[in-house]
Amino acid sequence: MFCVILAKKINFYPAKRVKLTLVAGARPNFMKIAPIIRAIRQAQKQRTDLSYRLVHTGQHYDEKLSHIFFDELAIPAPDANLGVGSGSQAEQTARIMISFEKELLEHPADLVVVVGDVNSTMACTIVAKKLNTAVAHVEGGIRSFDMGMPEEINRMVTDSIADYFFTTSEVANANLLKSGVEASRIFFVGNTMIDTLVHNLHRTKQPAIWMERSLEPQRYLLLTLHRPSNVDDAERLMSLLAEIEEAAGELPVIFPAHPRTRKVLAQCGWEGKNIYLIEPLSYLEFIYLVKHCRGVVTDSGGVQEETTFLHVPCLTLRQNTERPETIALGTNVLIGDDLVLLRESIGKIIRGEWKTGAIPPLWDGKTAERIIEAMLTIPL
Ligand code: UDP
Repeated sequence: MFCVILAKKINFYPAKRVKLTLVAGARPNFMKIAPIIRAIRQAQKQRTDLSYRLVHTGQHYDEKLSHIFFDELAIPAPDANLGVGSGSQAEQTARIMISFEKELLEHPADLVVVVGDVNSTMACTIVAKKLNTAVAHVEGGIRSFDMGMPEEINRMVTDSIADYFFTTSEVANANLLKSGVEASRIFFVGNTMIDTLVHNLHRTKQPAIWMERSLEPQRYLLLTLHRPSNVDDAERLMSLLAEIEEAAGELPVIFPAHPRTRKVLAQCGWEGKNIYLIEPLSYLEFIYLVKHCRGVVTDSGGVQEETTFLHVPCLTLRQNTERPETIALGTNVLIGDDLVLLRESIGKIIRGEWKTGAIPPLWDGKTAERIIEAMLTIPL
């Protein structure tokens, strides 16, 4: 593999002033951008010619999916909030593009940095490239090869026009090389989501549900579901929940549900027996529950990575994953549509018969530092 592995310090700082625009829009972006900002601020102590502007597109805008993460993860207030709000895929993407074009024309950058796979990632990449601005994609190269997922389209479009790629795995490197990206543009640096986890593990917070339900370590399961393929069809969602409830038996299942999921559950008047539906949690509260639970059932991308790092059993209710290292090395297993496998796997987790897994290479809490070191070697 010819990709640049940045495990050692590179001390080459060009004299030119470097202006970065960092884009964040939705919940999983905030965990990825927080350590990058910390690393930039660290680098600024040595060089005053590096500046950044944080743009929040407003794709997620409420307290529980946005504001709380700024407070908890000490992310500075955005320099601009485009306030695009929700809408259909096309409406939201279009609104982000219109607003971000104005933003970038008023505040030109040398490099636009996008993270993850949300609509903001793709929309801002298109805008930047059409304004002849270089783009770096943090978490580039991952692929589910599932064109039914809006995120996969965002990943493919972003990676087809971005200039530089900061990757989380060898699989991502291989995907990029296969699609014709030059090796010199790929920087295998690790996972910024894990930087945030490492940085905050010692300060997680017990959520109110812990006392309300008298939870005990290892004596509950944690559930998150928000992908359209699992939650938009009420019948499918009900059958998943019924199976989980049945398999969990005596163990309570804590379900901090995304607004999209809550809406469907409210429409069909669902009430759990031992599944406790709660509001989305803050990051520090959610990680507290991940750390202490018996196992997680999820369709989230980030949660697959966090459970692998924490050696917590994870069942992923999807047919595929863009994070195959969490299966090959980590604690994750794909369940797809197989309700029998779901039930058997929950049984295995409860009986303590699960793999402990290993942590993928470079998921060590130092990824953002490597990103900034690499970025400063890019000829901008
Ligand atoms: N998360 C959170 N509160 C919750 C559920 C998840 O803070 O109630 C965090 C989780 O720890 C992870 C991120 O949200 O860091 C994942 O976001 P999400 O599942 O929305 O997106 P995906 O990773 O699937 O793109």
